[in-house]
Amino acid sequence: MTNEELWQSVLSQIQLNISPANFATWFANTKISSIENNEVIVSVPNSFSKEWLEQKYHKDILKILKSLDEEIKEIRYVVTPVNIKINTSGKRGTKKEETVEQLGFSELEVSKETNLNPKYTFDNFIIGPFNEIAYAASMSVVEEPGKNYNPLFVYGDVGLGKTHLIQAIGNKIKENDSSKKVRYIPAEKLISTIVNAIRNQSVEELKKNLRDIDVLIVDDIQFLAGKDKTQEEFFHTFNSLYQKNKQIILSSDRHPNNIPAITERLKSRFNGGMIADINIPDYETRMAILKQKTEEKNVSIPADVLDYIANNIQKNVRELESAINRIIIYKKTNNKTIELEDAKKLLKNIIVSPSKITNYKKIVESITEFYDIPSGNMFFSSRKKEFARPRQIAMYLLKKELKMSYSEIGRKFGGKDHTTVIHAFQLIEKEYEENEKIHQEIELILQRIYSK
Ligand code: ADP
Ligand code: MG
Repeated sequence: MTNEELWQSVLSQIQLNISPANFATWFANTKISSIENNEVIVSVPNSFSKEWLEQKYHKDILKILKSLDEEIKEIRYVVTPVNIKINTSGKRGTKKEETVEQLGFSELEVSKETNLNPKYTFDNFIIGPFNEIAYAASMSVVEEPGKNYNPLFVYGDVGLGKTHLIQAIGNKIKENDSSKKVRYIPAEKLISTIVNAIRNQSVEELKKNLRDIDVLIVDDIQFLAGKDKTQEEFFHTFNSLYQKNKQIILSSDRHPNNIPAITERLKSRFNGGMIADINIPDYETRMAILKQKTEEKNVSIPADVLDYIANNIQKNVRELESAINRIIIYKKTNNKTIELEDAKKLLKNIIVSPSKITNYKKIVESITEFYDIPSGNMFFSSRKKEFARPRQIAMYLLKKELKMSYSEIGRKFGGKDHTTVIHAFQLIEKEYEENEKIHQEIELILQRIYSK
């Protein structure tokens, strides 16, 4: 039997026992590349398949292989990406680089010193009519921190690039002069830090800390609404920095005059520098953002697909990003060009309200199928460890896609308390942002939900 025939027989047996969707997801583009010393080398297209084959299907594959050839003792899974990277000397690299296959969602580390995320730079920030004023003001701050626009106050709706822009300022200032003390703080963090300092009687120390900074960046300052103690402390910090010509940068989802329950004196401070808003990106800018994301991840997506996304997602750069990421994951896991029709299906729940096109049953079914676990009572109440994660993902998706209430979801899962559901939701939401593997699993589950 050739290696190819051997692998074909394995696949045909595996296929009998798992759903067609699972089969297509995990076994596409796999093959036996060689057999060395009774060890079978199986090549797989990406690290994601590798992990799944190792964790979920290894025993079955080995059993089948042994039954076909009793000499076989072990299996090793090796990622064999499609591309071969060209090395800097211009010669074709002989070593196949794993980097080519990675989907590129891995997060860079947030700096301990500044709390800035290095992924937010001006290099990957697209400028258009919607944000050019905020951009110009930012550049002016970068050139002469503390001089021109102090404070710089950037506002606009969620997902339009405020965090990206104000962090890019911090990163650029630091790059120009590494001795500058730059500090990025989300307002929620500022509030809890101040509350804790009051509780621990360490306010003096905190004050010193906050006032010994060259560039202070506070994100989502609207959260200070109604937080009197924080406002009080922040007011003094603001003044102290301002008097020393230190740069203050703030963001908010609205104009300072429209933030409720905030003291007049803070409002007037916020109004005292430069206020720049970020609007909704126009079509050309939306296209430019999509093109940039595909180039960053080194994939090409047909123009009609990009056009479809740019036409249908208009108000939020974050949604543009998740749409294109979804398309990229699909393309990479399926290893084929993506047609407009595929894209329409994949993006259905971003473009149309999910509750119109899916339901409770489809969501639960897709998850149990995906993880190959029995549905029914077991899934909802079993204490087995292997059910825990899929169940949390189910809670997350029921909330996110169908907007079911936490207590309603709790009832579906054997009368769980709504706080348990909230906990699960927050946990998975965080993992989705930060953990590449979970991100991809959820994306693949969504693909199933919306292709049912
Ligand atoms: P906000 O803070 O306004 O809610 P973010 O800064 O978090 O928005 O932006 C949401 C996502 O969109 C981020 O991943 C960000 O990198 C991306 N993004 C926003 N604006 C731009 C832009 N002009 N160019 C490139 N990417 C952008
Ligand atoms: Mg933000």
